[in-house]
Amino acid sequence: MKYALITGGSRGIGRAISLRLAEEGIAVIINYLSNKEAAEETLKLIKAKGGQGELLPFDISNADSICQALDEWNNRHQEEYISILVNNAGIRSDNLMIFMEDQQWNSVLGTTLTGFFYTTRHLLKNMIVNRYGRIINMTSLSGIKGLPGQTNYSAAKAALIGATKALAQEVAPRKITVNAIAPGFIDTDMTKDLDETTLKKLIPAGRFGKPEEVAELVAFLASEKSSYITGEVISINGGLYT
Ligand code: NAP
Repeated sequence: MKYALITGGSRGIGRAISLRLAEEGIAVIINYLSNKEAAEETLKLIKAKGGQGELLPFDISNADSICQALDEWNNRHQEEYISILVNNAGIRSDNLMIFMEDQQWNSVLGTTLTGFFYTTRHLLKNMIVNRYGRIINMTSLSGIKGLPGQTNYSAAKAALIGATKALAQEVAPRKITVNAIAPGFIDTDMTKDLDETTLKKLIPAGRFGKPEEVAELVAFLASEKSSYITGEVISINGGLYT
C-alpha cells in the first residue's frame, strides 16, 4: 500500500488532491488545522468511492505539532512509510508592506516554510532508506512574479521554489523527485474574497482554475510515470503569466 500525506488536504485544492490520489488506490493521510467538519467530509467522499484515507490534524506552522503527529503515525505503521508528500497547506494575510504587522509576516512564512521544512525532513529519511519518493510543493504565481500586497506570501512561495530546486538535486540519486506547482487563481475559499469578475479579464483562459485541474497535475507528479522530472516549477494559471 502506498501512503500520501497531503497537508491542508481537507479543503480547496488539498481536498481535490486527496480525492484524486485516493482514486489511484493510494491511502491518503489528510492533514488539516481546525476545520474538522470539512476534513470529515473529504474522508467521507473518499470512502464513498471505495478509497482509503485517514485524518491527521496538526499545525503545520508548529514544529512540535508536526513531529508529534508524524511520530505517532510512524508508531502505528511500523512496516510502512509515506512515499508521497504534498506540501499544500498555506494561508494568505495580505497587506501593503508599509502596514504589514509582524504577525502577518510570521504566520505566512511560518505556515509555508516551517511546514515544508519539518514535514519534509521528517519523511525524507524513510524515502531515502526505501529509495523512492515524491515530494510536491504548492507554491504560487505570486512566488514567481511577486504580487503587490503579498510581500509575505510572495517571499514564502519564492523561498519554497528555491528549496524545491536545492532538495531535488540532493535526493535525485535516491530516486526521489521534488517538484513545485505554481497555480494562478484557483476557485477555493482562499480566493473567495477576490473580485473574480475583474480578475478573470486578465486571464487569457478567461476564468479561474478548478482545484481538480491542479489535482490532475499532482496525480501525475506523484506517479511513477514522472520519474525523470525533478526540480521543476510547473505553472497552472490559464496563461496568466509564464
Ligand atoms: P484553502 O481553501 O484556504 O485551504 C487551506 C487548507 O490548508 C485547509 O485544509 C486548512 O485547514 C489548511 N491549513 C491552513 N493552515 C494550516 C496549518 N497551520 N496547519 C495545517 N493545515 C493548515 O486554500 P487553497 O486555495 O486550497 O490553497 C492550497 C494551497 O495552494 C496553498 O498553499 C495556497 O497558498 C496555494 N495556492 C492557492 C491558490 C488559489 O488561487 N487558491 C493559488 C496559488 C497557490 P483548515 O480547514 O483546518 O483550516
